[in-house]
Amino acid sequence: MENSSLSPFKTDTIIEPFRIRSVEPIRFTTMEEREKLLKEAGYNPFLLKAKDVLIDLLTDSGTGAMSSKQWAGMIESDESYAGSSSFYKLESAVQDITGFKHLIPTHQGRAAENIFFTTIANEGDIIPSNTHFDTTRAHIEHAGAEARDLVINEGKQPQSDHPFKGNMDLEKLEETIQAVGSDNIPVIMITVTNNSGGGQPVSMANIKGVSEIAQKHDIPFFIDACRFAENAWFIKTREEDFTDKKPIEIAQEMFSYADGCTMSAKKDGMANIGGFLALNSDELASECRNLEILTEGFPTYGGMAGYDMEAVARGLYEALDPDYLRYRIRSISYLGDKLTDAGIPIVQPTGGHAVYLDAKQILPHIPPTEYPAWSFNNALYLLGGIRGVEIGTVMFGKQPDGSEKPAAMELVRLAFPRRMYTQSHVDYLAEVIISAYKQRQKLGGYKIVESPDVLRHFSARLEPIDK
Ligand SMILES: *Cc1c(COP(=O)(O)O)cnc(C)c1O
Repeated sequence: MENSSLSPFKTDTIIEPFRIRSVEPIRFTTMEEREKLLKEAGYNPFLLKAKDVLIDLLTDSGTGAMSSKQWAGMIESDESYAGSSSFYKLESAVQDITGFKHLIPTHQGRAAENIFFTTIANEGDIIPSNTHFDTTRAHIEHAGAEARDLVINEGKQPQSDHPFKGNMDLEKLEETIQAVGSDNIPVIMITVTNNSGGGQPVSMANIKGVSEIAQKHDIPFFIDACRFAENAWFIKTREEDFTDKKPIEIAQEMFSYADGCTMSAKKDGMANIGGFLALNSDELASECRNLEILTEGFPTYGGMAGYDMEAVARGLYEALDPDYLRYRIRSISYLGDKLTDAGIPIVQPTGGHAVYLDAKQILPHIPPTEYPAWSFNNALYLLGGIRGVEIGTVMFGKQPDGSEKPAAMELVRLAFPRRMYTQSHVDYLAEVIISAYKQRQKLGGYKIVESPDVLRHFSARLEPIDK
């Protein structure tokens, strides 16, 4: 037959770039059952059993699906204590993608932070970043230093539309260095994407700008690289000159401006556990390895089994696959678009791994001290078995002196596990959120009846306030 005269078929549909070969059933419950389950859990979704959740958007950390190649790698792994070939595979992947000379594997991201900040930070030091993630901040403070957030102003306003709301304010960075002196700044960090700021990306120009300032003042520059691949995709689709570059080339360029990185492989490592510290300095690497042996394990496995290192070595490349990234970022904006069309206020534009609902605007009749974001999140569970997480006054409101102060924002974060859910799951999700929104006048506040002194959102018990 002649090569056809058909014109190529064009579609706007972005399909899941995988087919499903192993399935995990999810359990349907009735609203009546969920009312009982939520009450038993002290109205705290963290205390629900996962089997009682239909669509679990609590976090994208370590919750994703692994590929057949990753599972095959796990069978093939080398569990030798020292010099395991799985370590060398991971080392070669990390060196290829980041260009950094030394790999220090750890059991997850915060273990890399612990080793790094214990080694470099001292009492009274200042460590600037766009926004430090909470574990990063905790480790910096644990070392007696101060974690300082210098994100651009647009990054603090939920409704402002800026393509790179995760960017660092370079002027503020310069001012900070002038004010405190470069001797008191052991490292400058940047988080890509900016998790605490809504998964918002950082531009290549900004990364380069930070790097130039760091070099000028002779300060090391490290990237918190947890979502480096998602950030590379935003650079490809939003920044001039990068449209024709492959995500891996963009990632390589991002890392080329830095001296090292901390990484949680539970995010763009596409694994269920794992992490690493990677860096260029021989001296710093050897200091960090001393601590690694003390807290994590021998340097060729750190905190990971050989099979974890195999999964991460493959996962880092899979996270950079353009078909995967197109689907990944579109899954998030797809939900964002549906909600925006329905008039529901969300953090704009949608970021890389989550949709953030603005509960302060959705529920103006519930004061922050009665936890509007908590209330809306619970409504999503009651109506549709969906579990998100409150990022508001329950999480941040309790002051060290025991008093209560409203958080800056009242958000419900719906974080998407990687490669887990399909478009129909997201369609259902949108229906549930829209239904909760339409019934918002019926929602009331909550009060805390029992709570621990620190990190209360994990285990507090609450009750609805009767009005
Ligand atoms: C998750 C995360 C971490 C910490 O990693 P863990 O693997 O959870 O210990 C650090 N920084 C950012 C930006 C993260 O998202």
